[in-house]
Amino acid sequence: MPAETVAATQVSKEVHSWEAGGATSPEALTAWVGARLAGHEAALAALLAVEGPRTIENTLRLYDAALEQLSLAGAQAGVLNSVAKEKAVRDQAQMEAQRVAMAGSALSLNRGVYDALVAMDISSADSATRHFVERTRLQYRLSGVDKDQATRDRLQALHEKATKHSLDFSRNIQEGGKTIVATLSELDGLPPDYLSRHQPDARGQITLTTDQPDMQPVMTFASDHDLRERMFLAYNTRAYPANQQILLDLLATRQEIASVLGFSSWADLATADQMMGSAANVRKFLARLEEASRDGAVREHELVLEFVRSKQPGLKAIDITSRGYWYEQFRRSAFDFDSQSVRPYFPYKQVEAGVLETAAKLFKIEFRRSDAAGWDPAVSVYDVYEEGVHVGRFYLDMHPRDGKDKWFSAAPVVTGVRARYMPEAALICNFPGGDPDDPGLLQYSDVVTFFHEFGHLMHAILGGQTQWAGVSGFATEGDFIEVPSQMLEEFFRDENLLQTFAKHYETGEVLPSEIIRKMKTAGSFGRADWVRTQLYYTTLSLDLHDQDPATIDLDEITKRLYTSLVPWTWLDGNRMYASFGHLTGYSSNYYTYAFDKVIALDFFGQFDPADLLGCDAGARYRKLVLEQGGSKPGREMVRDFLGRDEEFAAFSKWLNEEFESQLISATA
Ligand SMILES: [Zn+2]
Repeated sequence: MPAETVAATQVSKEVHSWEAGGATSPEALTAWVGARLAGHEAALAALLAVEGPRTIENTLRLYDAALEQLSLAGAQAGVLNSVAKEKAVRDQAQMEAQRVAMAGSALSLNRGVYDALVAMDISSADSATRHFVERTRLQYRLSGVDKDQATRDRLQALHEKATKHSLDFSRNIQEGGKTIVATLSELDGLPPDYLSRHQPDARGQITLTTDQPDMQPVMTFASDHDLRERMFLAYNTRAYPANQQILLDLLATRQEIASVLGFSSWADLATADQMMGSAANVRKFLARLEEASRDGAVREHELVLEFVRSKQPGLKAIDITSRGYWYEQFRRSAFDFDSQSVRPYFPYKQVEAGVLETAAKLFKIEFRRSDAAGWDPAVSVYDVYEEGVHVGRFYLDMHPRDGKDKWFSAAPVVTGVRARYMPEAALICNFPGGDPDDPGLLQYSDVVTFFHEFGHLMHAILGGQTQWAGVSGFATEGDFIEVPSQMLEEFFRDENLLQTFAKHYETGEVLPSEIIRKMKTAGSFGRADWVRTQLYYTTLSLDLHDQDPATIDLDEITKRLYTSLVPWTWLDGNRMYASFGHLTGYSSNYYTYAFDKVIALDFFGQFDPADLLGCDAGARYRKLVLEQGGSKPGREMVRDFLGRDEEFAAFSKWLNEEFESQLISATA
């Protein structure tokens, strides 16, 4: 079938839950998910009913059709759980997500399906098909499919519990926003557009929320220590105390699953089918990271502390709520770079256009605004074309809304399968902007985040043309998934590219080269501290899944790790673990970010700095990495693109990028 015919037949109510009313009606959503699950069951029934020899066509094709329906239902239940306007719909979406997860768990414990997959002869299949089958068989063994019926029933019940805890944990973060009250004088240091959006009420009080566009500027720019502290505590307790016990229950349930399966810890189970392979390998990697960042972090801390003491003589230490503020002040003084000065060059709409244009040039595709409907009027829809052929679609839901998830993420909407489903994906973000009176001036770190999430989006779309749903898009090892996103982040560093879209929102002036250079130098200061913070999150994620949950004191372990890895002073009352959302998806494997940063920087090193978008690395990267989706192991993709395994050199160079020679006497 020609690609265009395929695309046209598949964009229908069957594919989009919200076109069937699922974004506004809980009943319609249930009916839509029910139809997908019925399709899933029908494919499995047909698979089990096959008589005679098992083949790829009579078995794997049906298995994949069952997966396809499951991932379609799961993706959209997940999206609507994050974005639906009505709480009743979000609640229903959470229940549907649970129902889909249970069907997935039942599939992973289905002995009949496993036996059928094992009986297939795959010796003459193509390599992607062989990899899909071998990986699926491994995951079946890891899920306990070969245990007796009673054990499998117990595992199914444990998965149900774990899924419920995970969904509750995420929901409490999503809906747990808090507010604090400030006076005008406490907002000293914040930019004018922030002040104009936060007018005092009749009593002279200003209400600030813990949403990113309110919270982040306070932590970076507010000179009032008390205000920062109130915001920090509100932000880090927004899902506390509810999530404290839920997290302990989740950890205990995961540990029980691991024990039933014969693993000593959840971390060993969760790394068994990853690039890393074992929790012990993660520990080795973390030791290397610790060593690589130690001296740089000490040096950074010394410089900032010395600077702060020149302002506040006698100060003993800098606390956790002041780290962002003093880094900003130090960068202004030491590198003559004020991060507020670049915000007028990054109004949301221009950044969106710039990121899209960069990706379009890099991957040689075209984005056209679509009049197709999203789940909310605030959503922008784009169609992706390649040589005139419609190959994908994406949804940008980019600004805060009541009840909407408060983080930044990319999510599949339709898992692409060649000649069956056109890939669709969404960004669910919380950038400033979105209403006509607000230009949505972004901090430069927001622009980097935009590139990051767009890297995921491209992975879902360009990797969504595979022959099997089971290897489409994000279906790589979980610890490879942050490579495409962190690779695209690096494009922010290119001056020419930035100047194509960084233009002053009032005057149209292009962001001057001199400021870009200062921004890059100032931005390279703080990397060692960033790595230490990653080490803290990563070690916490691992430690929580590598010991008896009954002995874990969340407050004690969080404070101890922070104090041992980061130089800033801890603040009692900080319950960050209760809103550490990555613990649901990544569980013990938060190391993915740091590990994939090493790979991403090595990948980026293959691009010609003088011609990032035009050099042939872009086409090679697209073909050998993105388009593969999960068709081959991450290890092989690394070797295909680099011609070797990843090395630490590019990461070390990035981590130790020269900033000392650019320092203006910081304490002057
Ligand atoms: Zn990411």
